[in-house]
Amino acid sequence: TPVVGVLALQGDVREHLAALTAAGATARQVRRPEELAEVAGLVIPGGESTTMSKLAIVFGLLEPLRERVRAGMPVYGTCAGMIMLADKILDGRDDQETIGGIDMIVRRNAFGRQNESFEAEVDIDGIDGGPVEGVFIRAPWVESVGGGAEVLATFDGHTVAVRQGNVLATSFHPELTGDHRVHQLFVEMVLRA
Ligand code: GLN
Repeated sequence: TPVVGVLALQGDVREHLAALTAAGATARQVRRPEELAEVAGLVIPGGESTTMSKLAIVFGLLEPLRERVRAGMPVYGTCAGMIMLADKILDGRDDQETIGGIDMIVRRNAFGRQNESFEAEVDIDGIDGGPVEGVFIRAPWVESVGGGAEVLATFDGHTVAVRQGNVLATSFHPELTGDHRVHQLFVEMVLRA
């Protein structure tokens, strides 16, 4: 089984560890560069992207993360994790850094201005068996994508799931539902990488 890490600086780490385990991976927390070096793929959880960005710098992980993503390691980011994987963000803090990896512009707290949190059914390209229950919590949306990025799902006219090569991102939190299909898709990406 593939060894898949969860970036454990901040956010809903435990829920992702459980979802990855249910999806057939060996799941591990990643907090140090040496731990990052040992995983074949990585999940970046939901939480608070400004804090995650700061802690990634403090823990000496930002550059190693950028290097692994550039080298093709599969990564999946949910919510704040999606923000971390955006090449560019809107409504971020001035000093907020991202890892990047997807040629997209992501707007922080975009849905939050309308609705702090809500659930909605989301149809995702490449996931069979009907829509997934999307849990949106102060969620970002994708304002625009560049040529290399593929839109996998929209909700209410806004892009909420994107993939570019081995990098996957969703505005919502599949780890908070009992439905592990998105994590299974990601584990397959890790197996194929
Ligand atoms: N609003 C948060 C941020 O900007 C993301 C919220 C979440 O991950 N649930 O980082």
